[in-house]
Amino acid sequence: MLIRKVIFAVASPLLLGGCESVAARAPRAAPSVFAAGMVSAADPRAAEAGAAMLRAGGSATDAAIATMLALNVVEPQSSGIGGGGFYVESDARGHIETIDGRETAPAAANGRWFYRNGQPLRFGEVVPGGTSVGVPGNIALAAKAHAEHGRLAWAALFAPAIRIARDGFAMTPRLHDALARSAQTAGFDLAGRELFYAADGQPLPVGTIVRDPALAVSLEAISRGGAKVFYSGTNAAKIAARVRGAPRNPSPMTLADVTGYAARNRPPVCGEYRQYRICGMGPPTSGATTVYAILKQLERFDLTALGPDSPTAWHLITESMRLAYADRARYLADPDYVRVPVAGLTDPAYLRRRSALIDPARTLGVVTAGTPAGAPPLPRADSAAAAEHGTSHFVVIDRAGNAVSYTSTIESAFGSGLVVGGYYLNNELTDFDFVPEQDGRPVANRVEGGKRPRSSMAPTLVYAPDGKLRLALGAAGGTTIPAQVAKTIIGVLDWHLTAQQAIALPVLFAPAGQTVIVEPGTRLESMIPALVALGHGDIRARGMSLKTNAIEVIGGRLVGAADPRSEGRAVGE
Ligand code: GLU
Repeated sequence: MLIRKVIFAVASPLLLGGCESVAARAPRAAPSVFAAGMVSAADPRAAEAGAAMLRAGGSATDAAIATMLALNVVEPQSSGIGGGGFYVESDARGHIETIDGRETAPAAANGRWFYRNGQPLRFGEVVPGGTSVGVPGNIALAAKAHAEHGRLAWAALFAPAIRIARDGFAMTPRLHDALARSAQTAGFDLAGRELFYAADGQPLPVGTIVRDPALAVSLEAISRGGAKVFYSGTNAAKIAARVRGAPRNPSPMTLADVTGYAARNRPPVCGEYRQYRICGMGPPTSGATTVYAILKQLERFDLTALGPDSPTAWHLITESMRLAYADRARYLADPDYVRVPVAGLTDPAYLRRRSALIDPARTLGVVTAGTPAGAPPLPRADSAAAAEHGTSHFVVIDRAGNAVSYTSTIESAFGSGLVVGGYYLNNELTDFDFVPEQDGRPVANRVEGGKRPRSSMAPTLVYAPDGKLRLALGAAGGTTIPAQVAKTIIGVLDWHLTAQQAIALPVLFAPAGQTVIVEPGTRLESMIPALVALGHGDIRARGMSLKTNAIEVIGGRLVGAADPRSEGRAVGE
């Protein structure tokens, strides 16, 4: 069942300052500056932590890092310093930088990592314990981003998260539900059980003040000593020891695996959709290429005329999504290990050819990957259909017009269940393909030592035809992320909705196989007969873990948007 908790607020544009345009000889656009900044995050206390940085004169990057750290405390099921993330930053003129803080596999990992007795294990069997854990990347990402774009002292960014972890925070209904549903991982370690469960094994009641003093100590140490405190000494030794000594699925992660971690600058991936510039994070995430393919393949259709109540519109979106996810499954992986044909995959001529396959009157049926320019000879690979709960997206725009779109994750709810220093370690390595070859050839996203697993995370920025930022957004929800982000962009650009309305639109998820999943209890569910008439055979209404956050710029004002399915909120400076 989809869990709906309708606690959200949209920052009123009336409460926010207006925009002052600055004349410029900009390469891309006249820079935008705003009288005040804004943060949108999945928890109001984390959004407030970021907004406090903006009030103190911090940059969008400072605020994003403070938000990431506070989310670790108040939304421990979803993200944190035991996991990784992707950061997309833009200055006021639209110059973009992206940082990859994706987790890495231990050097000892190989294609049979998730095998036992010659057989691949099931997802649920390998999540709890050590083999699913990758070396965390968020602190290295934050340090790199701060060195490049921070304005406040590093230690200042940690102050709100430390205070909340030490003084306590009220347990939300969403955290409570996650603890009830994910007891196997949330309570896997004694440290997790002690933090969140009563003596009778039940999650602490909603509203209970939860304190995480061990996390406060960890954060304090990193705030004083920098990222090296995380990646060396006691903390690094504890991570390796916890993973090696895990009661289930112990992994040969070494201290050198942890100390050798590095966040990486990657080239951003940008393309034009109806004169808007859509930019995001490239490999090892499939986010930007998949979002862009879904949109670009739809460009030849008049989605505006069809509107969001048209089954034909959703049929077209379904077909485009399935084509995009087929390419994602075959080609996307860690670019340090596999040649990923990003230019070919986002080439408008290639996407026009893919789009020509779409028939408005009939489903394509079986969808296979295309052959973009530069494509290596790879076998078909399965497109995972899992929708997870261990991710959070947040966006910040500051008064100088800098924007950050950052998705942070520990993969599943409570990651691997292993706790070190008050934070959960991720289970990100389950984002690898478990079976390393198909048709006798290696698949792109197979497990390899030191490699980063393919992600779906899609931190995105959208620029208007005048070059100015129009929308900053991203989502949580595993493989549904590109579907959520593309739908929100279509809602804003094609259906002329506010970002808030576009986020609230129902979600349709159609990975490359035949199955189409629609959000239950929505107008999409009532369109099932019409979609069946277009040939779609396997349509299911099924709850998915959905959570999108955005900030849009309307008439020079910042307007926040948070998913009504979550406790998210936008907070002005
Ligand atoms: N681990 C997933 C990814 O990187 C995200 C999981 C989630 O969104 O809950 O794509």
